[in-house]
Amino acid sequence: MDHFIYKNGSLHAEDVALSDIASQVGTPFYCYSTATLTRHYQLFTEALSPLPHLVCFAIKSLSNLAVLKTLADVGAGMDVVSAGEYMRAKAAGVPGDRIVFSGVGKTRDEMRLALIGGIRQFNVESEPELRALSQVASSLGLTAPITIRVNPDVDAKTHEKISTGKKGDKFGIPISRAREVYAEAARLPGLDVIGIDVHIGSQLTSLEPFEAAYLKVADLTHTLRADGHNIRRLDLGGGLGIPYTRDNTAPPLPMDYGAMVKRTVGDLGCEIEIEPGRLISGNAGVLVAQVIYVKHGEDRDFLILDAAMNDLIRPAMYGAHHDIIPVVEPEAGAEQQPYDIVGPICESGDTFAKARNMPKLAEGDMVAFRSAGAYGAVMSSEYNSRPLVPEVLVKGDHFAVIRARPSFDEMLSRDTIPEWL
Ligand SMILES: *Cc1c(COP(=O)(O)O)cnc(C)c1O
Repeated sequence: MDHFIYKNGSLHAEDVALSDIASQVGTPFYCYSTATLTRHYQLFTEALSPLPHLVCFAIKSLSNLAVLKTLADVGAGMDVVSAGEYMRAKAAGVPGDRIVFSGVGKTRDEMRLALIGGIRQFNVESEPELRALSQVASSLGLTAPITIRVNPDVDAKTHEKISTGKKGDKFGIPISRAREVYAEAARLPGLDVIGIDVHIGSQLTSLEPFEAAYLKVADLTHTLRADGHNIRRLDLGGGLGIPYTRDNTAPPLPMDYGAMVKRTVGDLGCEIEIEPGRLISGNAGVLVAQVIYVKHGEDRDFLILDAAMNDLIRPAMYGAHHDIIPVVEPEAGAEQQPYDIVGPICESGDTFAKARNMPKLAEGDMVAFRSAGAYGAVMSSEYNSRPLVPEVLVKGDHFAVIRARPSFDEMLSRDTIPEWL
């Protein structure tokens, strides 16, 4: 369920017509719905209740401060993977004790920043990281609460670039070596071992891989407790997929996911954390673009848009599908024709869709890429010196620009020409 629907023949975000936003900010732009963001957060907390839990939004999926504040205000924690994301969480008003630090390559500077600023826990991914964190925390006279990310060796059955829980992936420590590594962690100064962390991948469309991983985590909880560790928190990661198409292959709902969590780890007396990104932000955002030209091709017509792969890289990078719909509602039964939908960048990879059936479109018409909230704006770049597209947040009948489109001057001013040149 999202809040991008046609009203009076025109696509709206909640109660705001996307065409009204376009006339004020120009195209392309990202637009997010407050109601969808908070609803998705609430679905997770309802699904995990009454277990003690914290839903930590994975900032990497959508990191605009206004979005983070929207979620923080309804009680969300945050999962960060860099100093920059930590700073964003803090700037959005999230208290340190609701921020979890993940990531396979945390630097000592990042550890220091989070220890001083306050942190709920570090999810440690390797033995060298364990030793570094122990040194940094000890040198500050502080104690770092930690979980250790285990790699449960399950196949997430998702795109290889976003699968993270198989033997051979760079993430976590092999679950088979967990006892050894936990024993070392318990011996090191400056660390408080509080739990276990697991995250097996993104855009999972079935509960089975989660269930297999969580059962292994439950076993490990018993083993580590028997070894004398006070395991009291389980971070179960993110990764629940979203429907990118409107057919009947919808991924499991948060409610079913929650029931599975209770079934697998609910009776361990642990506080549960999850780190959903995509499921909260994905369907809460659209990318709106305009048709620059309709070009007649040999096989099919091309729709050449003013958005490109630098604005939304998922189709080029993951072969991802996004539904693309006209902003002006097509008449019922309107004739369709197949288009190749492309951006203006000089790479064949700058193709959003091939032979996509669309109602007939003309120069100047606008389209919306659905499900573009997650891994959209955050993965954009200025490739081809195309300024980053603006972001807009809608709430009810009003909207605000939450990141302005940089002017060409602003974009160029970040470069410097050395004096000697
Ligand atoms: C990417 C990531 C997430 C979020 O994944 P989604 O698929 O967006 O839910 C959560 N935790 C970690 C450690 C991640 O790397």
